[in-house]
Amino acid sequence: KNNRTPFVAGNWKMNGDRSLVTTFSASLDSHAVSNVDIVLCPPAVYLPLFSSANFSLGGQDLSAQEPGAHTGDVSGEMLKDVGCSYVIVGHSERREDHGESNSDVAKKASKALACGLTPIICIGEPLAVREAGEVEAFLSEQLKALVEHLSVDDLSKSVIAYEPIWAIGTGKTASPEQAQDVHKFIREFFANEDKTLAEGLRILYGGSVKPDNAKTLFAQADVDGGLIGGASLKVEDFISICQAAN
Ligand code: PEP
Repeated sequence: KNNRTPFVAGNWKMNGDRSLVTTFSASLDSHAVSNVDIVLCPPAVYLPLFSSANFSLGGQDLSAQEPGAHTGDVSGEMLKDVGCSYVIVGHSERREDHGESNSDVAKKASKALACGLTPIICIGEPLAVREAGEVEAFLSEQLKALVEHLSVDDLSKSVIAYEPIWAIGTGKTASPEQAQDVHKFIREFFANEDKTLAEGLRILYGGSVKPDNAKTLFAQADVDGGLIGGASLKVEDFISICQAAN
């Protein structure tokens, strides 16, 4: 796959506690998975409790603002300070719960890069859009906002996650063909900007990835790994998904 290193990120969302942190740290420490970039994104308050050479840390969101009077928000500088190298931006739950627009998401990605963090930028369509046959038009709008706000150089330092909303937390995974079709479309979209960018860009699939479907999804030509929600809360499942990416 053109030397793109496989990538698996776990998103705990608003789940987990100290005891899960301990379980994960111990298990991931004793299960090195070679040739896969592994990132864990626990809730921000638990980030400082982790340290391991076997995986990197990511935030689940960051503020697009400068540090200052923004009660409740977490800055990219802070994520960096507690050991993060990545941050998820534009997760559909943030778009939905916090009204984040396509341009808000692009601004957050830009802020992440300015802080030295790699943004994992989420895009994806709701069920009604898929049923109406308008997936590509919908995703184009999300992607256009990214190329408007981010340079080719910025984008080449980013990771994209395609997460069809109808597949998130529902147990309804996109078929490997559905995922591949969209990933190919996304890569072609970026190829229109810059061919080298498109060839090097890692595009993850997210939406009910489990140990039993990970391998076939990750085997698709334009699928470079996954963003894992529910299954990232069970350490055995998460490790077996990481192994499936190798
Ligand atoms: C996610 O929220 O990014 C996700 C893909 O969740 P799940 O794996 O639970 O569908």
